Amino acid sequence: MTFSQFSSYIQKIEETASRLTMTEILADLFSHLDVHECAHAAYLLQGNISPKYRPQQFNFAEKLVIRSLAELFSIQPAQLTQQYKQEGDLGTTIQGLKQKQKSINKSKHTIEVVFAKLVAIAQYEGAGSQERKMHGFAQLISEVDPLSARYLVRIPVGALRLGFSDMTMLDALSWMMTGDKSLRRKLQKAYHVFPDLGYIGTVLKKQGLSAVEKIKPEVFTPIIMMRAERITSAQDIIDKIGTCIIEPKYDGFRLQVHKKGDKVVLFTRGLEVATYMYPDIVKAVQDEVSADEIIFEGEAIGYNPETSSFLPFQLTVQRKRKHGISEKAKEIPLKLYSFDLLYLDGTNHIHSPFVERKKLLRENIDNHNDATKDSIIPAEETVVEEAKRIEALFDDAVARGLEGIMAKKMTGTYQPGTRDWNWIKYKKSYSSKVTDTIDCVVMGYDFGKGKRTAFGIGAFLVGVFDPKNDQYFTIAKIGTGLKDEEWHKLLSLIKPLKVAHIPSSFIVDDLMACDVWVTPKIVVEIRADEITRSPVHTAGRVMQKTKTGTAMEVKEPGYALRFPRLEHFRLDKSPQEATSIKEIKTISL
Ligand code: AMP
Repeated sequence: MTFSQFSSYIQKIEETASRLTMTEILADLFSHLDVHECAHAAYLLQGNISPKYRPQQFNFAEKLVIRSLAELFSIQPAQLTQQYKQEGDLGTTIQGLKQKQKSINKSKHTIEVVFAKLVAIAQYEGAGSQERKMHGFAQLISEVDPLSARYLVRIPVGALRLGFSDMTMLDALSWMMTGDKSLRRKLQKAYHVFPDLGYIGTVLKKQGLSAVEKIKPEVFTPIIMMRAERITSAQDIIDKIGTCIIEPKYDGFRLQVHKKGDKVVLFTRGLEVATYMYPDIVKAVQDEVSADEIIFEGEAIGYNPETSSFLPFQLTVQRKRKHGISEKAKEIPLKLYSFDLLYLDGTNHIHSPFVERKKLLRENIDNHNDATKDSIIPAEETVVEEAKRIEALFDDAVARGLEGIMAKKMTGTYQPGTRDWNWIKYKKSYSSKVTDTIDCVVMGYDFGKGKRTAFGIGAFLVGVFDPKNDQYFTIAKIGTGLKDEEWHKLLSLIKPLKVAHIPSSFIVDDLMACDVWVTPKIVVEIRADEITRSPVHTAGRVMQKTKTGTAMEVKEPGYALRFPRLEHFRLDKSPQEATSIKEIKTISL
């Protein structure tokens, strides 16, 4: 397929707000692709040239792109910047400029050729590589037609946001095969252990569904992480899963460790590669993990060797950084409390019972039972039969500065990408009642009035996630309680995510409309006094037709947070990991 034809599909996707229509367009696109084009198309549609967890870095500063494109059109960079600011999108600006050119290029470049050129450009290294990248990219833009240029320009500056998620892509692949979404579950199962849409699409097209169903975890490809259900009493834990294993809930950040020989790769829960950030953990895995080939998980938490105590989350999280890594590693050493094993020496263990996985994990960690020496430590575990014992372990964990406990079903399998009763979290409260914070997705913001006008942000809208339909529903608009630096941080994180129209996955009442909408990406942990009901929020809201049948009215109001406060930015969580509507319903009971 030519890149030009591919761009026409992108245009159709861009023009629709309906997820179903997008699914159909994508299915049509994939059915017209050759097998060898599937992976390229899947990555390009996500604005990338590789699966998300193996990002190829373009490192293109917008300013430099503008400079080299201005040169291409023989105009001043300032003039191009001005046009772009007016238009609000570099893609359409470049398309417009190309359309005005005397001879309009009717490029016959295939997707494959454009893809290969982008890869080559991204891989330039060494002295003068920025210049070569810019030159190569401008050259590529000169070779394609205006519509192709519109989308191509957005890729290296990270602005190709087509507003559909990986789940829509899976639906589309199903649609291509069957004309409906019936294969989503099966495809999703493969995706959970091998989240590479390009690979899944290729295998499906080339070898069919049965081959996709055989896709297994592989070292250095992250497995989408399992999540825990929550419960608010120890007795409920016993009622739900009976005799179980209790582990402390360490309050740090989760890492999935992949090791083969001496090579170690660390993935965050958002499936980002974090190896370079934690050289101390990499070294500890090389020294202390005996298995040759292993995938295991743990919670990294800051540790004070002088007092033998854990550091609070606010300190641990300072280890997440791009610069000054080795200094911070000395200041805040990490321990990796390891709690699960998913793969060992060629065998996939996600279907093995938890007790067996944990046993294998313990056997593969060389431990001295001495926290001053060990850095990779199996999570402490206690088998319990009674609620009273759970309460005692919970109190003990909280007294040690931990978050609470995790209860694990002894026979439970590892359920990738799923929130499951095989793991239950029981967290400490700030009041006498056990309450939990809520992980919300930032959906948009208002400019604000008074003092805040100077800030550029006065309030932000947050929502929760509905995994069934891949949609976000609002639960609070937050305009107070943030420190100045928190407002600045929030704005700097969300400003680059600005989109021209409200994303089709957002379900928002008109009264909650924002000045600026953003792509769902940033997760914030919110604490509230209470969950109340409100007709202006859409989380859990039920609508019905009015008596005349001409309009809609609220039948049951939605859930809303009373006195919401920002606790933390949860940059380790993806928007799909935000609290779900189902959980909100349970918490509010
Ligand atoms: P939450 O992020 O509140 O949904 O709680 C689940 C998270 O707790 C996991 O994703 C881990 O990052 C963290 N965690 C801490 N200790 C453990 C443990 N022992 N077992 C599993 N997860 C743990």
